[in-house]
Amino acid sequence: MNKLGIHALVWAGGWSHDECALAIEQTAKIGYDYIEIPALDPNSIDVDFTRKQLEKANLGVTLSLGLAPEADISSEDPDKIARGEATLQDAVALARDVGSAHVCGILHSAFTKYYHPPTQKGIENAVEVLRRIGEQAQKNGITIGLEVVNRYESNVLNTAAQAVAFCKQIDSPNVKVHLDTYHMNIEENDVMSAMIETGDYLNYFHVGESHRGYLGTGSINFDNVFRSLVYAGYTGPITFESFSSAVVNQELASILGIWRNLWSDGYDLAVHAKSFMEAQLKSARESILARA
Ligand code: MN
Repeated sequence: MNKLGIHALVWAGGWSHDECALAIEQTAKIGYDYIEIPALDPNSIDVDFTRKQLEKANLGVTLSLGLAPEADISSEDPDKIARGEATLQDAVALARDVGSAHVCGILHSAFTKYYHPPTQKGIENAVEVLRRIGEQAQKNGITIGLEVVNRYESNVLNTAAQAVAFCKQIDSPNVKVHLDTYHMNIEENDVMSAMIETGDYLNYFHVGESHRGYLGTGSINFDNVFRSLVYAGYTGPITFESFSSAVVNQELASILGIWRNLWSDGYDLAVHAKSFMEAQLKSARESILARA
């Protein structure tokens, strides 16, 4: 059965002790299985404090990040590549220490708007780094999820098919694909077939609306999305991701373009998202049973 989680930015823009305690407490209170912590700077997270809060709330955890432009492993600059590899190593170590089995996000390139396509050499550089990170992840029982994002956030992986081909090049059992409905809605020809064709490579999933606000209030066909998850036999984590100018992390807001106030009550949003995802999963499973 899929575990359901929520992105920490629904609660707080940073990860101070107060923000960490509040985010974890609220997530557990609503009944989510885990919280996804943004770890753009893995060394800024207080491991012991976070772990204690998670244990107290009996809550699971996953980590996500995007590489900074100066840590771009898909570049041809050895210094940038080395910084990116070090960030990824730190993220895997943080996951191990905080008790997360998943590190996901834009780990294959910088999390930025590019003004040029990737180079062949750059792609090879990213593949080599991720092969080594895959080994480190495997040793620690962690899976790397490469997030497929829209063209304004990366130039390396914009479609599910590109991500599967990229994973085949890396050829590590612990490097898989992370899909997100918000990005698929922009880039995929057909969301259902993209998800089904990703198949066993799919290892992490983000549920976000077309405008990243309340689920069901935008233009994404969630009936199709959840049926595809069930058709694909996906049993991994499903994270609700939403951003509003009401809760701001400057680093993320500037790249994601979070200018509009799509909600102000994170608690109400989170309660609604959980029941929405549960109802969608239930309907999808029943629809498959009805076909049998
Ligand atoms: Mn996402």
